[in-house]
Amino acid sequence: MSISKIPGIGKYYLYKLKKININTVEDLIYHFPFRYDDFSQIKTIENIQEGETITIQGIIWQIKNVRTRSGKFVTVATVADQSGTVEIIWFNQSYLTQTLKPGMQISLSGKIKFEGSHPKLISPSYEIITEYRIQTLHTARFVPIYPETEGVSSKWLRAKIASILPQYLKKQKDFLPKEIVSGEELVSLANALNYIHFPKSQDEMKRARKRLAFDELFLIHLAAQIRKMEWGHSKIAPKMKTDKEKFAEFIQMLPFKLTGAQKRAIDELLSDLQKDTPANRLLEGDVGSGKTVVAAAAIFIAYLNGYSSLLAAPTEILAFQHQETLEKILGVHGIDVGIWTSTKKQTGDITVGTHALLNNFKSKNPTGLIVVDEQHKFGVAQRGQLFINQSGKITPHLLTMTATPIPRTLALTLYGDLDLSTLDEMPEGRLKIATHVVPNSKRNGAYKFIEEQVKEERQVFIITPFVEPSETMTSVKAATQEFEKLKTKFTETVNFGLLHGKMKSKEKETIIKKFQKGKIDILVSTPVVEVGIDIPNATIMMIESAERFGLAQLHQLRGRVGRGKHKSYCFLFTDSNLPTSAKRLKSMEKIHVGFELSEIDLKMRGSGEIFGLRQSGFINLKIADISDRKTVSIAQSEAKKILATDPSLKKFPLLSQKLNKLHSEYIQPN
Ligand code: ADP
Ligand code: MG
Repeated sequence: MSISKIPGIGKYYLYKLKKININTVEDLIYHFPFRYDDFSQIKTIENIQEGETITIQGIIWQIKNVRTRSGKFVTVATVADQSGTVEIIWFNQSYLTQTLKPGMQISLSGKIKFEGSHPKLISPSYEIITEYRIQTLHTARFVPIYPETEGVSSKWLRAKIASILPQYLKKQKDFLPKEIVSGEELVSLANALNYIHFPKSQDEMKRARKRLAFDELFLIHLAAQIRKMEWGHSKIAPKMKTDKEKFAEFIQMLPFKLTGAQKRAIDELLSDLQKDTPANRLLEGDVGSGKTVVAAAAIFIAYLNGYSSLLAAPTEILAFQHQETLEKILGVHGIDVGIWTSTKKQTGDITVGTHALLNNFKSKNPTGLIVVDEQHKFGVAQRGQLFINQSGKITPHLLTMTATPIPRTLALTLYGDLDLSTLDEMPEGRLKIATHVVPNSKRNGAYKFIEEQVKEERQVFIITPFVEPSETMTSVKAATQEFEKLKTKFTETVNFGLLHGKMKSKEKETIIKKFQKGKIDILVSTPVVEVGIDIPNATIMMIESAERFGLAQLHQLRGRVGRGKHKSYCFLFTDSNLPTSAKRLKSMEKIHVGFELSEIDLKMRGSGEIFGLRQSGFINLKIADISDRKTVSIAQSEAKKILATDPSLKKFPLLSQKLNKLHSEYIQPN
């Protein structure tokens, strides 16, 4: 049900909520708090102490707005209970005097400050208590704090969720089989949803998380295992023989020597092709690791066996680029490389194309192999459609390729039905980007080095502190401040540019063009901004507060330099003195493979922290932690158990329904 059906949600909120992926009532219910303010302790005024966070409840004695010397308004109130009085201060909320009147009963939560013997509450949370509304929501309890967006506060979300939750839960039936709920000592779904938003104790928080995390992992495993069953059983793929001699010739005629990782991936793929169950393999490797030639090897074998292949790319530019590359590698063997986009349509032994492949495309020979590049960008439904269109009596083998650094352990969990090949080695001759973790004491030295590079006409990225995505306004401010501060560190000959997510796309374009043309020496940017453009002349990537980033994200930022012929550098600035965060960052100095770095993050920080991955749509986990091996394995074995006794889930219609609904949400390779 759309959230527009909820009273009080009109166009404005519809638009705002969409920004944080809330479109349905269910989305809102599943918008979980990321922490709680503990306002559960209620005290009488005589018992409160300096520094403690508590709730007091009393009567408003007086309330008024006072203008300060700087012209701003503060609202000052006195609240009394039977034991004493406390002074309350709010800043810039002069409208409060319209709703809060002397004589009203009020509940206040916040941190106590003493001025002499007088207790004060500064900017506390508050709510009026009446005989109709005794139950508090924003005070006097564990108060949930949610991911927010501009115009949608936690207070607003809390009130909305509280108003729809009881209704929602009444209609909701628990989809998890009873045996599992009792066997794993889980709480019911209704309780879990209640506890996650409005827990009465730490214990309730824990139990809610346990249940909801289990649900996520269980459903993922169940879906993966069902896909695997269906994939393996019902379909027949073409068995392809590898002609050793011709294949050796293919390898010999390549314009370069394969890396060890490429050889391994090709071996794995070719042995897939020899079976009559359709291959379903994910090939993972950083940008530039050489995934295309791995695909080309399989395309070559398919061709020798009399089958056509398809390569689907997310954009037209990429499609033409692939055609050119394959032309070089496969053309010499007499293989005709076709192209199929909205502007050009030409069928070959292998055809490279875009979404246009979904319309009226017919391959020359039966399609034996489908390769999908950057699978997450291509779209789940389209990928499925492509597959169905090309399947006849035989089902093609499937290879998907991605540069998103999914840690191996994560990939194996999320895609238990997939086989995985990884390119953990870069082709020879690539310059490594010299990476240094820079402590604060060496900051000025780094600036000096940067200025020298600028004198040699190199260009520099500076990425400013990254704040949670829900706090984009704060991060824009951080970038702007940093920008002003930085300018003072360099001589006036250095040209600066600023780029952030709140700029209009026209403005962004202008700045990026200027940087491309060399009119900007140092580009200061928030990490939210995709600087996906190629600037071969940029040689330094400097990242502020690097400890706040995921390693995989740092790696991707680092990849923006080192694209030209000049030696490139990555400086990671950190304010953190924690040994663990230093150790984590240090791994950037040694490791230059994306998914190995994200693996480290997975171990050290948990899956919730792999920022880049969440953004890219690979993970749809709200609460479960993939690095929680115990829950992962229990969820997996429960999923197996249930499918072993009831493979079609006939006895569990609610579960089956739930899975179907998720089917469209999770990224799936088939
Ligand atoms: P990816 O798709 O993984 O980003 P590509 O397949 O486009 O990478 O390869 C990037 C570049 O590296 C291409 O120009 C390709 O010709 C080249 N290349 C691939 N493998 C090797 C290798 N083993 N040695 C040298 N160059 C290679
Ligand atoms: Mg590629």
